[in-house]
Formats: sequence, C-alpha cells, structure tokens
Amino acid sequence: AQAPDPRSALIPRYVRVNTLLWTVADAVSHFKRGGFVQENSPMNTPFAKKSFRIDDHVPDLLAFHPSVRFHDSELLAGGRIILQDKASCFPAVALSPPAEDDACVIDATAAPGNKTTHLSALMQNRGKLFAFERDKKRFGTLRMMIGMAQCKNIEPINADFLTTDPSDERFGRVTHILLDPSCSGSGIVNRLDYLLDDTDVIEEQVNDGEDTRLAKLASFQLMMIRHAMKFASVQKIVYSTCSVHEEENEGVVTQALSSPEALSGKFVLCPREYVLPSWPRRGLKEKLGADDADAVIRCSPDEDQTNGFFVSCFVRESPSAVGKS
Ligand code: SAM
Repeated sequence: AQAPDPRSALIPRYVRVNTLLWTVADAVSHFKRGGFVQENSPMNTPFAKKSFRIDDHVPDLLAFHPSVRFHDSELLAGGRIILQDKASCFPAVALSPPAEDDACVIDATAAPGNKTTHLSALMQNRGKLFAFERDKKRFGTLRMMIGMAQCKNIEPINADFLTTDPSDERFGRVTHILLDPSCSGSGIVNRLDYLLDDTDVIEEQVNDGEDTRLAKLASFQLMMIRHAMKFASVQKIVYSTCSVHEEENEGVVTQALSSPEALSGKFVLCPREYVLPSWPRRGLKEKLGADDADAVIRCSPDEDQTNGFFVSCFVRESPSAVGKS
C-alpha cells in the first residue's frame, strides 16, 4: 500500500451535516454533549483534539481534529453526517440549486454521491434532481448513498451523460447542471470522502504517459461541458475537478468558453461575487486573464487544509438571474 501523503495529517476531519435529517444546531448540540468543544478560531489555526468548528465557507460543514474518526459512527450509518472534504462541498454551494417544487437539476457524474446528496439537501428534497452515473458498480454505491441520506427528489440514471439527448422533454426544464467528471485526481492528498476509495480513472489511460493521459482527460472534460451547454433551459453549469493540473482546469475552461456551444448559448464565467466570493484562492491569471481567473476557485493541498480542487461556474449572460452562493 502507498504511504499516506504527510499533508493529509494537516487536513481537518470534515463532516457535512445532512440537513435533510437534522439541523446544524442539532448537530452542534449533539457533539457538545459528546464532549467536544466548539471553537470560533480561524479555520487555518491548529485544532485541539476535542474541538470542532463550523466552517467559514460551507454553512453545513463542521471541522474536527484530523485524528477524530467517524467511520464507525452511527451518525454516518444513519445518513445524518457525510464525510466530505471541504473543497468537495464547493461545487454544490457554487451551483446553489433552487429549493422549489418546480426546480429541475442534473448531476451528470454522480457516484459515489457526495455532491448529489449535497445538492438534494440544498434543494430541501424539493423539485427533481437527475443523477447520471455510467459505471454500473458505482451506480450501486450511488443508490445506496441516496437511500442512506434519505434523498427523495433524486432520480438516479445508470447511463452515460454524453448519450443523453438534450432535447428529450424530460430535461426540457433543467436549469442547473453539475459536472464533476473523472479527472487525474492529482489534488487528492486525503481520501476523506466517504466511499471515494475506488478510482474512477478511465482504464486505458493508466498506461499512457502523463501528457497523453492529461490530454485525453481534458478532451473528455471539455466534451462534457459542451454537452451540458446544449440543454435549452440551462442557466448555470458548475464544472469541478480534484486536479491541480492547469490542463484539466483553466485549460478546459478556456476552450469551453470559446466553443460553438458557449458562443451561441452566450455562456460566460459567473463573476466572483456569485461564486464563493470570500474564498481567497482563485484561478491562474496567466491562462484565463485577471477577470476570468478571479471568477474561478482553486484549493491548494499545501496551503488551504483541503484537497487540491478546482471549481468554475458558467452562466448565460446576465448572471444576476442566478443567485449568489
Ligand atoms: N461527484 C461525485 C461525488 O462527489 O461523489 C464524484 C464524481 S467522480 C469524480 C466522476 C464519476 O463520473 C465517476 O463515478 C464516473 O464513473 C462518472 N462518469 C464519468 N464519465 C461519465 C459520463 N460520461 N456519464 C456519466 N457518468 C460518468
């Protein structure tokens, strides 16, 4: 087995409260009764062993000392908590799906279901959330996770998102799409996320050289964004990776912005004020230019107490229509 990355010892144990089953206030009381002490110290200061904090950027996320374990906790088995890295919570927060009965959302690459269940919680179990997963085994995991978290507004679909017909009437009202496709995983130093221990790297790529592998991934990721842009009612698309490579992040976004789908659909990057504005680390200016770089998010595994991550958000022009995260 590979030795653990030493940086993982510095990443807090993040616990997302499943707000479909209880509130953050209930969770805080529960942990206090269990002997934990709530601190209000800044997130980047070290934790005492028995302390926890409410996260500064994700309101339903708690952070504990890295050594605290919840893997055998009945809260996890009962779906009341989900072990999810902070950065991996950003995409659903950035997408900020509506909590309305007529809401219609797609999670295009859903398994194991961390972000799907997060979206469902933000939607308060209302409206409809189509969750695509093409891999059969991982689809089983997704269904299990949806059941545990008691998400009622999700329709899981075991299919390749790229083969869906955007003009299918079932998807005619889809306004928000989350794309968190397979990537190199180069940002992951700590496999905190529940059930994220199996790899989803496309098999033929394992033997490729690094450049070929990244080029193939980037071309697949770009195809996914361009496909999402073909849905007639879609207003907002969040594209994320757990990669630190420019090729899969700013490089893919740059190509997506100049694609025929973006130009004809008038897709632009949603400005910073709508995309976790208080998160300080933004994209690489050299590739995107200052304004677009400011619109996207990066997380550094060396400096941010999270896995390495990237989040971008496309909207049709007139972003004021889409709500702040
Ligand atoms: N969003 C998930 C979460 O937070 O739990 C993790 C998603 S993982 C990075 C990417 C997933 O997308 C894998 O399970 C993979 O099998 C699936 N996938 C890749 N390409 C796909 C496609 N074209 N259609 C549907 N699913 C796809």
